[in-house]
Amino acid sequence: MNADLHCHSVVSDGTLEPEALAARAQANGVELWALTDHDEIGGQLRARDAALALGMAYLTGTEISVTFAGTTVHIVGLGFDPDDARLAAGLHATRGGRRERALEMADGLAKVGVHGTYEGALQYVGNPELISRTHFARHLVETGVCSDTQEVFRKFLVEGKPGFVPHRWATLKNAVGWIVDAGGIAVIAHPARYKFSANEEYALFTEFKAHGGRGVEVVTGSHSSADAVRYTGTALEFELLASRGSDFHSPDESHIDLGTLPALPAQLTPVWEALDARIHRPA
Ligand code: AMP
Ligand code: MN
Ligand code: MN
Ligand code: MN
Repeated sequence: MNADLHCHSVVSDGTLEPEALAARAQANGVELWALTDHDEIGGQLRARDAALALGMAYLTGTEISVTFAGTTVHIVGLGFDPDDARLAAGLHATRGGRRERALEMADGLAKVGVHGTYEGALQYVGNPELISRTHFARHLVETGVCSDTQEVFRKFLVEGKPGFVPHRWATLKNAVGWIVDAGGIAVIAHPARYKFSANEEYALFTEFKAHGGRGVEVVTGSHSSADAVRYTGTALEFELLASRGSDFHSPDESHIDLGTLPALPAQLTPVWEALDARIHRPA
């Protein structure tokens, strides 16, 4: 099964509309798709309708920003009811404060001589509640300050750099609870990206499970093949379902396209097997 359960549209920090992503996924052979915008489900019905019209199965999705042990962790939710009021309220609260954070980021950048970045980033924003570091990165590439988004993050937008502003996102408990209470499954996104010690990572997986979390991304656009091997072991150790998703954002930026990842290792249970009743299937 070619499942791609992680990507972003203009509703968060991707550059394509949900319908264009659906078409791209389908053209690349995706059979089961989920759009997982950051802290937002405003694109879900468009994504579902576009997928079904193309003959592709669909799971609802989102990627919630969480602060755990002082670090930002992303939790993907799959298969939830998109009309759930508590999930919507939780995501709305999580989106709050992004504008103020962006203004502070622009202040930090201005102090090192890079001016006008708030207004610049806004040019790339599709959703006024979701101005993100990615939009700053696009502006700084477009204006020639850096040659690609990786360089912008490295020089300006990660901890210790002038455009980095610490932010408090949702708690792990709340994020998992919102997803689970809305009938979905919570999945730890791209675990290899976090700079945790072994003890902190053990705490993340243990607390995640205690709150009702059930899955982990093993095969993602931000994992090497060695990372996938490593988190296959973690999935087995913690008895977690495994997910697969490209984390596609843009044809110009993402090196892994929709639907082009390696398969999940055969010894793992795919998360979609536990979500069979939640899958929207074309007529
Ligand atoms: P934010 O939610 O505003 O903190 O932005 C986080 C987003 O920035 C992530 O979802 C990625 O899309 C992007 N991002 C984070 N780190 C990097 C990086 N090193 N290179 C490129 N994009 C990144
Ligand atoms: Mn992103
Ligand atoms: Mn992420
Ligand atoms: Mn993502």
